[in-house]
Amino acid sequence: MKAVLDHIGIAVDDLDAALAFYTGALGLEVDATEDVPSQGVRAHFVRVGSAALELLEATSEESPIRRFVSRRGAGIHHITLRVDDIEAALARLRERGVRLVDETPRRGAEGALVAFVHPSSAHGVLVELKQERIEQTRHAR
Ligand code: ZN
Repeated sequence: MKAVLDHIGIAVDDLDAALAFYTGALGLEVDATEDVPSQGVRAHFVRVGSAALELLEATSEESPIRRFVSRRGAGIHHITLRVDDIEAALARLRERGVRLVDETPRRGAEGALVAFVHPSSAHGVLVELKQERIEQTRHAR
């Protein structure tokens, strides 16, 4: 299975303070912002070479990001690996007894297909698999 690092999701508590660090102090740029109302989050993508940092801001009380931050504080929430065929990747993991959060892929940001692997099977890390929408041109913005 071929996979490349797509992005690292970072749960933030105070977006302005996070932007002051990532864009102000580090001098990186936010190149896309996307609301994902179904997840109660707003994602701010900061490009770093061929990968990105995804600053995740909670937009509702029930947001998983709000829960995460209140339990563990701001910090790394997930890593995302991009694969060519997410169905094949999930089948491969299932065969090997890996615990999945999503048995079937669902729609993620930017129209991609995504599925999460449970941290208990990934050494404490929430791993997201992502397959880009075929018709989408990467980084067209
Ligand atoms: Zn993400």
